[in-house]
Amino acid sequence: MEIDKFYHDIILENSKDKSNKKDIEDATDIERGHNPSCGDDISIIIKKDNKISDISYLGEGCAISTASANMMINLVKGKTIEEAKKIVDVFFEMIKNEKNIENIDVLGDAVVLHLTHNMPARIKCATLPWHALKILLEKC
Ligand code: ZN
Repeated sequence: MEIDKFYHDIILENSKDKSNKKDIEDATDIERGHNPSCGDDISIIIKKDNKISDISYLGEGCAISTASANMMINLVKGKTIEEAKKIVDVFFEMIKNEKNIENIDVLGDAVVLHLTHNMPARIKCATLPWHALKILLEKC
């Protein structure tokens, strides 16, 4: 299988998975991410105490932004705030195309989003949910 096809399938699979697209009744915070150039409008909803006990998203977006949101949520759900911050940092290092990133493994399937680093229009789609999460975590 071609590597691009493999990446494409992971993105498609994650954008179709709507299990994290829901409201959280007793949520503690919400942050909206809006990307007018593509039309992505995704809000990240979080319930946190000493860890991220629940996290989800609502809104609409393209395959890349919704896949990115789904993968991100699967990665940080149940993690402590510090652990989640580290994952977010590694993700942005990857998107900036930094070399020899330590702990790149923490990104799991989300490494496919590295594909967007040379597509300026799509970087905004891939990073939108992560910017929203970063803001939510910085408030902790
Ligand atoms: Zn988009």
